[in-house]
Amino acid sequence: MIVSMVSLGCAKNLVDSERMLHRLKEGGYTLTTNLAEADIAIVNTCGFIQAAKEEAIDTVLELGALKASGSLKRIVITGCLAERYREEVAAQFPEADAVIGIGDQTGIVEVLDAITKDIRVTRFAPKCNMPLTGERIVSTLPFYAYLKVAEGCSNGCTYCAIPAIRGKFRSVPMEDVLAEAAQLSAQGVTELIVIAQDTTRYGEDLYGQSKLPALLTELCKIDGFRWIRVLYCYPERITDELIDVIAREDKIVKYLDIPVQHSNDAVLKAMRRKCDAAGLRALFKKLRERIPGLTLRTTLLVGFPGETDEQFTELSEFVQEMRFDRLGCFAYSEEEGTVAARMENQVDEDIRQRRADLLMEQQMQIAAELNAARVGMDAEAVIEGYDREAEAWLARTAADAPDIDGRLYIAGAEDDGYEIGQYVQVHITATVDDYDLIGEVN
Ligand code: SF4
Repeated sequence: MIVSMVSLGCAKNLVDSERMLHRLKEGGYTLTTNLAEADIAIVNTCGFIQAAKEEAIDTVLELGALKASGSLKRIVITGCLAERYREEVAAQFPEADAVIGIGDQTGIVEVLDAITKDIRVTRFAPKCNMPLTGERIVSTLPFYAYLKVAEGCSNGCTYCAIPAIRGKFRSVPMEDVLAEAAQLSAQGVTELIVIAQDTTRYGEDLYGQSKLPALLTELCKIDGFRWIRVLYCYPERITDELIDVIAREDKIVKYLDIPVQHSNDAVLKAMRRKCDAAGLRALFKKLRERIPGLTLRTTLLVGFPGETDEQFTELSEFVQEMRFDRLGCFAYSEEEGTVAARMENQVDEDIRQRRADLLMEQQMQIAAELNAARVGMDAEAVIEGYDREAEAWLARTAADAPDIDGRLYIAGAEDDGYEIGQYVQVHITATVDDYDLIGEVN
């Protein structure tokens, strides 16, 4: 049987998909990235907000159509949507041959063995059965990989369903993280991307305090990594010790992703975020002073229950003042089981979306200006492929994370001899659109 994985949502989910792929290969299944060749499709869903749920449902419906046409024989649904809605998913998608929770992913081979014998499987083991470590088949470009250092979240932001879906925060023991990182390096990974729901909390549950600075220091000692990137930092937990490590270690790229969600103190408090506007301003000032050339990414949430026009304007002014290099903005969606969903003063859905659109328009202007300021600079970039239509090599600088940030085009022919994963020194010559760049190799 030939199996294809459709991994939706975030990089943390992707790591889970990669672990399932490894188990399936060991279990004798043949893997393909081409759905048209597959007998079995596994969709590892996301389900933390409405848009993610809709994408997951659309994907299952598309797979159902492939099954009805005879090109696909079996469908498995797992991941956050399956974990969150369990029997509802099993009942609403009769075309699925298996619906399993995240705690059942270790048994993926047995699940496939059963469904190929026409036994429908619905299984929801405790979330904590999800292992924190395990071998994987890296499915990103071979030179970079995500390193998941913790599972779940215990921060308890009032709008967020993730703690209910993924369970409480569980750090991977440091020796296991380092062993996995060493293995990735031995496989040829040169860019390591450290992830968790909240990377800055790493180690608190195991060691009584955050061990992210110590972990990063140890990761930097592993030969082979050129870039180590840290995503998803909680602002309140960015300590001087962590800043020092990031500033000191050459391998750690000067890029931080710090979701702040809002800047109005009353909204932050209602969200049960631990920081306030003054703290955020002080943090970003300190980071920019102590880490020269730092690229800052953040994520915002607008239309939270009770958010007034004035509070939204305050956020808009904060964005203007902070001039984040990268910014994503979500319109709030009330998620069952969360504290915020039970709040009475829900903002009209049209207003939520309009506010999100307004902020993204505002940020587009800022991003374009910051991008234009990079013209004339030299930077290191890594080759990611060739774009025949653009007749250019695609590359990415350290200031850009894979998939979410901009790219750099290097004009040239396909037989110029670059290789995917090759690091080159470039001179940035122009911008394309608002987020991308053009450069030439020095
Ligand atoms: S920090 Fe807050 S928003 Fe992020 S995953 Fe945890 S509970 Fe959700």
